[in-house]
Amino acid sequence: MKISNRELYTPWAPGTVRRETLAAQADGWRCPTTGAVPPPIALGVTFGRDGAYDTRGGRAYLRDQGAPGYEQAELVVAGLEGGSDATLFSSGMAAATAVFQCLPDRSRVVVSETLYFGLTKWLLEFAPQRSLEVVRVDTTDLAAVAGAVAAAPTTLLWIETPANPTWLVTDIAACAELAHAAGALLAVDNTVATPVHTRPLELGADLVMHSATKYLNGHSDIVAGFLVAGERGGAGRSAVLAELWERIDLHRKLAGPILGTLETYLLVRGMRTLHPRMRQISATALEIAEHFDGHPLVSRVGYPGLASDPGHAVAARQMTGGFSGMLSLYVDGPWERSLQTAKNCELFIRATSLGGTESLIEHRFTFEGAGSRAPREMVRLSIGLEHPADLINDLEHALEKAAKEI
Ligand SMILES: *Cc1c(COP(=O)(O)O)cnc(C)c1O
Repeated sequence: MKISNRELYTPWAPGTVRRETLAAQADGWRCPTTGAVPPPIALGVTFGRDGAYDTRGGRAYLRDQGAPGYEQAELVVAGLEGGSDATLFSSGMAAATAVFQCLPDRSRVVVSETLYFGLTKWLLEFAPQRSLEVVRVDTTDLAAVAGAVAAAPTTLLWIETPANPTWLVTDIAACAELAHAAGALLAVDNTVATPVHTRPLELGADLVMHSATKYLNGHSDIVAGFLVAGERGGAGRSAVLAELWERIDLHRKLAGPILGTLETYLLVRGMRTLHPRMRQISATALEIAEHFDGHPLVSRVGYPGLASDPGHAVAARQMTGGFSGMLSLYVDGPWERSLQTAKNCELFIRATSLGGTESLIEHRFTFEGAGSRAPREMVRLSIGLEHPADLINDLEHALEKAAKEI
């Protein structure tokens, strides 16, 4: 008997249920054998065929199809982003670099100047091997974007918003128009905003990328990534996207950046609580940003949710229900005081990464080391699910102590 994975349960037709419902029930999956609501963990790498030499549910080998539950994760994220397809990778970087590895040789790509540090490093190191021309622009400056994409035939515009680590906001809809007018595709790293707060495909983007290591999983216990594709299959840009997506799919199967079985289980579990986590995290982040805005020991707070933030107008237009949980404090005084503030925290954990239930503080410049463009007087905060008053007290104490020490 041949059973397609899609027949093991009936996924909701797009638009039938709201995103909160889709996430909470992880697409409504049931184990066809036991009826189990969370998927069983099946660790097999190879999948037996029946007497007619047919596979069961299309699965033959783990690297090609992923674990049972793989499609469930992909369907949830495609549904949350309003995409036609999603592909799950072993990390955010595996997802991001898949795009650049699958572009035609000698493509010209325009990328945000403020970009996840690891991706900037990868582009500098590996893009030349494929003769990709990488042009870095300040994508908050739309005239600069227009100039960059129009200067020569461009295949892809890649933006990140709010952008790590300063949370600059790029106008997705405007970039989509500029990219498309120049015949380029638009890809958006939506890791920080998550589909709870921003849905780039609805704003005209063609591709969305996620480090699912962060908010999607939400518990700091796996590394994972996604690419999501918008509508494709017609002529022109849509045909270019269809061809690129096919290559990305093939790359995922052949190069093997597949997420492990246990991690896939944890990811599906984590995504069930995405909406309530993001709502709480964003509310706490706004409270903290407002508390330290104008504080005597803080020269500036970088958070798109603050009316005084340069990105606020665009953020208010393209973000819904909150502004996510990432903010930066620019500590007043000598730059060493910011590092000292991080050292003095007792509740905020001194660690990199973001998007978990626990709040983190990081002196980004020290972490990135040589070549870092992160402002030295800045500490980056990833807000978690603790009580906002405890977090504010910890920062107050750390700032006061640092001001006495340095
Ligand atoms: C963490 C991160 C990445 C990289 O993802 P990994 O899962 O660590 O490979 C890319 N973009 C942003 C914005 C990130 O925060």
